[in-house]
Amino acid sequence: MILVRNKAISSLIACIQGVKGDIKTDFNGVLYHEMTHKWQCHGNRQAPSGLIEGIADYVRLKANYVPNRWAKPGECRSWKQGSSVTARFLKYCNGLQQQGGSVAELNKKMRDGYSDNLFGFTLRLLF
Ligand SMILES: [Zn+2]
Repeated sequence: MILVRNKAISSLIACIQGVKGDIKTDFNGVLYHEMTHKWQCHGNRQAPSGLIEGIADYVRLKANYVPNRWAKPGECRSWKQGSSVTARFLKYCNGLQQQGGSVAELNKKMRDGYSDNLFGFTLRLLF
């Protein structure tokens, strides 16, 4: 029996045990998601949890480890459908570079704190 004290590793093991589809996509995707949490900024724990999870899924999306269960582009009706929807929204915003929509820049700004206007508009309205 292995005693796991690290929350990220515990989450990874729980997710792997629940894999029913493509093991490579799910394993690597969960790994990308959980490792993002280790390195991402949380705005001194003030950022909305939906944004934190969405950024982790955004990194997974950019790495192209998207499981079949995620909503496809255009299938989303609400931002509250989950972090994969937020990830797709962040990907869209990241494409709007001229309007300051960079996810990396957002993460950098969240090093020391969080403001609803860090992304150029009020993200909290989405969560
Ligand atoms: Zn997460």
